[in-house]
Amino acid sequence: MAQSSRLLTDSSILYRCSQKYYDKVLSDLNLGSGQLPFLIFIYENEGITMNGLAEKGCYDKGTVTKGVQRLVEAGYVIMMSDEHDKRVKMLFTTEKAKEIMAQIYLIRQNWWEMITQQMSEEEAALFGTLQAQAAQNALAFLIREQQEEPLRIFGMQKLTLLDYPGKMAATLFTGGCNFRCPFCQNSDLVFLAEDAAEIPSEEWLDFLKKRRSLLEGVCISGGEPLLHPGIEALLRRLKQLGYLVKLDTNGSFPHKLETLVSQGLVDYVAMDLKNCRESYGKTAGVEALDLGPIEASVQLLMQGRVPYEFRTTIVRELHNEKELRLLGEWIQGAQKLVLQQFEDSDRVIQKGLHAWDRATLEQFQKMLIRYVPNTEIRGC
Ligand code: SF4
Repeated sequence: MAQSSRLLTDSSILYRCSQKYYDKVLSDLNLGSGQLPFLIFIYENEGITMNGLAEKGCYDKGTVTKGVQRLVEAGYVIMMSDEHDKRVKMLFTTEKAKEIMAQIYLIRQNWWEMITQQMSEEEAALFGTLQAQAAQNALAFLIREQQEEPLRIFGMQKLTLLDYPGKMAATLFTGGCNFRCPFCQNSDLVFLAEDAAEIPSEEWLDFLKKRRSLLEGVCISGGEPLLHPGIEALLRRLKQLGYLVKLDTNGSFPHKLETLVSQGLVDYVAMDLKNCRESYGKTAGVEALDLGPIEASVQLLMQGRVPYEFRTTIVRELHNEKELRLLGEWIQGAQKLVLQQFEDSDRVIQKGLHAWDRATLEQFQKMLIRYVPNTEIRGC
């Protein structure tokens, strides 16, 4: 008990003293304690991406971006585009970094010896193991907590015959998105207002419970539903009610998608494929987009472990035949590709966009059928 009551104080002391020590000894190298873990991760995993760094160390993306930027400015790290996809940025240490790494490991070793004074070699090793285990336990708890947070629903369509292919379904809309697609019809869900009206969970749950005999499925759309830790709990609830589940996603979260597919929590996935790789960032409204997660989601779906479709909303200002051909080559052999005609409305993110006419869409379809025989047009 006495030990556990000092946990917060001791962890905080250890953390602050470590920071001070590293800031002091690294200052001559123009480095700080904040960049050290990133430098070591990159050195030990040359070619790692920003996302990879965030996942490895459980950092948020802003912290990674800031830390890596400082390392680049100090000349210790360079970013290089992946040769297969120039939008994916890989991180490498420079010669300047390699020259100091032996010194860095020594600095780290000195600090370890400092804080494990009065411990035997075995005790120090045990301390390291137990500390790592405690960190893992704390992290697992946090992830569990987040997953159990109820997912907030900001819209419900009580009946749709179109959203879930071949099924009578209802659609639930989540709020928030990591993309800013200029043609997005759901700007109110993407730029969620502070006072956006949420549908209380009792309301949509009651509705779905009562309609079980009539509806076959529930579509989960957004925004981007996989942004939310509570998605798993929501899907589990829908499966308990006996519904088939269709998930709409922009493909940014392949690990989450993989988890949901592996657990049998989704029965159909519709992944937005915004454009060919070369024009992806522009079409998703995020210029410096890391395409790695999108590639991973495409590969995951193309394994065919769950029925799926790729969907591309075709906009005159954003898509031409060459780009669509490249998109077709990318997903050659996919189960299904849907070309959705763009529709203008007050809710679109960027004003002034236009749809291609039906004849042009049919030309695109004819060309794409070579790559994905099951290519269909929706919306006109
Ligand atoms: S179209 Fe989809 S991915 Fe793009 S901004 Fe809208 S909700 Fe997000």
